[in-house]
Amino acid sequence: MINDEIVPLAEAMISAHDRSIYFGDGVYEAIRYCEGKLFAMEQHLERLKNSLRKMDMLARVDLEQVRRRVDRAVSESAITDALVYFQISRGTALRNHDYSDDWQPSFLLTIRAYNDRREQATVITHPDWRWKGCDIKSLNLLPNVLAKHAATKAGAYEALLVDENGLITEATSSNAMLVKGDVLQTAPLTANILPGITRAFLLGLAGRVGLQVREESFTVEEALAADELIITGTGNEVMGVTHVDGKPVADGKVGPCTQRFHKLLIEAMKGS
Ligand code: PMP
Repeated sequence: MINDEIVPLAEAMISAHDRSIYFGDGVYEAIRYCEGKLFAMEQHLERLKNSLRKMDMLARVDLEQVRRRVDRAVSESAITDALVYFQISRGTALRNHDYSDDWQPSFLLTIRAYNDRREQATVITHPDWRWKGCDIKSLNLLPNVLAKHAATKAGAYEALLVDENGLITEATSSNAMLVKGDVLQTAPLTANILPGITRAFLLGLAGRVGLQVREESFTVEEALAADELIITGTGNEVMGVTHVDGKPVADGKVGPCTQRFHKLLIEAMKGS
């Protein structure tokens, strides 16, 4: 879908002068659509609003129009278990870092079947080279792209990003958390990480899984000493991390809390 038009993929065109091309100047969201329902749509729209505000874009984007476009796209799509992706850029203009105040947003949306569920992942560690606005879901993902490719090259699925103090912030497209005893630990919501919708969902369920939440960053050593290490995200759902840089976490198998969280997430997606 380009703005209000649903078009065949081969005909989906945006201007070469779109600021997303020159600068990655825009924001995005990815939402699960499962058995006729968009999962956690309000939370995604709220995060989108925050991203837009921090990007000085909010005044020119109509959030109700975004909602209507997403609703229309999923209702016209034949896919019942899908990943809905959309991005909103700061419009079209000849290349110039500055922008005028009367820009018009451009909107691009794709829907893909969700058919690559995985329960487990191996990860590498990688320096977190990102900027100081990682709480904004911006199109600028170059450090994430490079770290993800480094993981692939190393035969791993994801990369845990490690900051200059040796603390894990998150992964390239997922949040990271660990289980140790009866504690579920994950990095606090600062500008260093994306406030993941799946992260929030798991923290809300911790009590049901018999865990207390601790929002405190952890090191790679602490991750390796955990009972369970988990990555979470809209695309990745809930995955047990079995190995970090080739070293096993606990017995190198997906743990019981991870499995329980995953089951509860899938139930909620189907039921919401
Ligand atoms: N961190 C990053 C950097 C991400 O790209 C994602 C995926 N959007 C997440 C975390 C997980 O967020 P969510 O659970 O909202 O998909």
